[in-house]
This record gives sequence, structure tokens and C-alpha cells, in this order.
Amino acid sequence: MDGIQITDKHKLEVVSKKELFDNVDSVKIKITKALFLPEDFNSLEGDPQAVYPIIPARIGIGKIIETSGQISGTSQITASRANMAIPPENAGDDTFGIARGVRVFPHPEVACGQCYECAKGDDAHCSSFLIAGKTADGFLRDFAVFSNENVSVLPPVVSDSDALFIDHVALCDKIIDEIDLQKGEHVVIVGGDVCGIILAQLVIYHQGIPILVDNNDNNIITAKNAGLYYTLFADNKIDRNVADLTGARLAKKVVYMTGSNLNTDIALKLAGSNATVCFAGFGTPGIKVNFSSALIKQLNFKCVNNGYGNIDSAINLLANRAVDTSVFNIAQTKKEQASQKIAEMAKSSDFSACGKMLIIDMD
Ligand SMILES: [Zn+2]
Repeated sequence: MDGIQITDKHKLEVVSKKELFDNVDSVKIKITKALFLPEDFNSLEGDPQAVYPIIPARIGIGKIIETSGQISGTSQITASRANMAIPPENAGDDTFGIARGVRVFPHPEVACGQCYECAKGDDAHCSSFLIAGKTADGFLRDFAVFSNENVSVLPPVVSDSDALFIDHVALCDKIIDEIDLQKGEHVVIVGGDVCGIILAQLVIYHQGIPILVDNNDNNIITAKNAGLYYTLFADNKIDRNVADLTGARLAKKVVYMTGSNLNTDIALKLAGSNATVCFAGFGTPGIKVNFSSALIKQLNFKCVNNGYGNIDSAINLLANRAVDTSVFNIAQTKKEQASQKIAEMAKSSDFSACGKMLIIDMD
């Protein structure tokens, strides 16, 4: 497999690696598109969480070019639900869609299979996930080998450009579960990054009322284009404005997006007494929280840092048009120009929702 890896701080170089393909129940995937995220730029900057050298790009999609072994009963769990929207001619009788030529989404997070939680069968709470682009190779490469249970088949109704957001939608789907969103309920979302804007769309889909808070003009415009009615600027009147919308009791549900550059005090300030405050995002930057105000209000904290377990649900949400990803204007490049473009973008000071995202055409 050929790819581009981060060897050292700010250093990308071409790499050629041998990848074993002798496991039963695995597939070899030709990567067709990769998505470089803010978290990948963090790896390039030097991230204590990352294991170097590492091939970046957390997200990738591709086509199966080879399958190995028998397709076991367990593999159908992942493939079957996404499979429902696949026409019969594309779905093999006993392969549950895992066949040559099929478009797939390899999962960016894979449970380690070795920790205490995994040994108990609670892989959803794995304590050391293999994360693409951080602790396992990402998708800036031509081929990848994945076990069947860690790929999802893409139905034709989910386009490549939608499929690149599956992990974001999965993360947001998990947040909706964690905060136990009720119909008609206000959800204050602090941070209008891509996850924040997708979350707001899902809140509407579940008949809640999102209030999106940000301090970046471009993000507010993107949010409005995505159909969000309540978008507020994070200024010194923000608590008054939220109180006006929520009937003075402030919000019972607040989500702070870790990908935003906003102060966590804003999230705590907008939370009512006994509210649930969820910290969510793929990145785990150094975040400080003022615990005394959390204690005064007796807040409940939740944390979500991946979409593991919600991938197939996310594919169905995209197939059902619950989220409009066309509002995101993301730079695109060919693989030959990828290193140069990434180096340029790393120096840019565009902190808007899509400013640190790049689609790389790997064909
Ligand atoms: Zn584990």
C-alpha cells in the first residue's frame, strides 16, 4: 500500500507499506476519497494522543476489490441494516453486500478487542479505540484492509459527498441519545463547526429546537443556510437572548462542541439548574471547565468523542435526508497535490467550520 504519512511535526512524506491480507473475513478496499479533518491538522502540529509515524485522514470511502474467507454470521450485523436500501442485483445472496465492486465506508474507530471492556463484550465502551489518523493509519493511502465487521456498505442513495460525513452524523446521533432529547425541547449548541451544524439539523429532525451559538460570521451564515432559525452570536448579551427564547429558565440541554474555539463558560452560563451539558467532538483539546458554576447548578456532564456503534444509523439518517451536507463548502484536491495543499492549509488562519477540512480525490 502506498500512502502519505506524518513522520514528524509538520512533515509529510510518501510511504510504501506491506499490509497483510490473510485474515478470514476481511476485505481489501481501494480508497477513492479521503477527508482530512481539523484533528488531522492537529496530528500534523504534534498531538500527544497520536502515535507516529501515522497516515492521516480520519475519514475515507472506497470500493471493495478483494474479499477473503467465508463471510461469517457476525459480519451481517454491520452490513445488513445499511443493505436494506441496496437493490437485489448488488447484494449477493450470502455475502450481505460485502462483495467485489461494492462502495463501502470503513469505520474510523475500531474497538481494540483486548481491553477489560472489550473482553466483557462491551466494545462500545472500549478504553483504547484504534482511531484512524491518530492511533491507527488513516485513509491518505491507496488501499486498506479491514475486517468485514468494520465496514458498512453504502446504499446508492447515499452519495460519496454525503458518505464523507457519516462519522460526523454518527457522533451527533450518539449525542441525541446521550442528552435524551425530548420533542419540543430547546438544545443550546455552543459551537458552529461541522458537527455543531449537523447536530442542529438532527435536533430539528427529532422535533427539538436548536439554538446555535458561535462567534464566527461564516459559521452563522452556514448555519442559516442549513435552515437553522435560532443562531446567536456569543456576545455579552448571550444569556439574556437564550433566556428570552427558553422562557427565562435557560436550557435543560446544552452541547459544547470541542471543535469550536469557544470558552466552556458560555456552555455553563446557558445551562439551567440541573441541566445536562454534553461535551462532544472528535478532538480532545485541552479544555478547561469552571467546576464551581457546575456545582452551583448541579449540572450533569456527558462526554461523546466518537460515533462508534451509530454508523449504520447515520447511513440511514443520510439516506432519509435528515441532514443536508451540501451547505458545507469544503476544499478539494487530487492526491498528487495533497501534501502541498495540506501544508498551505496548515498555515491558514481560517477557523470557520470548513476552513480546516480537505477532500482528497484518491482515484
Ligand atoms: Zn477495547
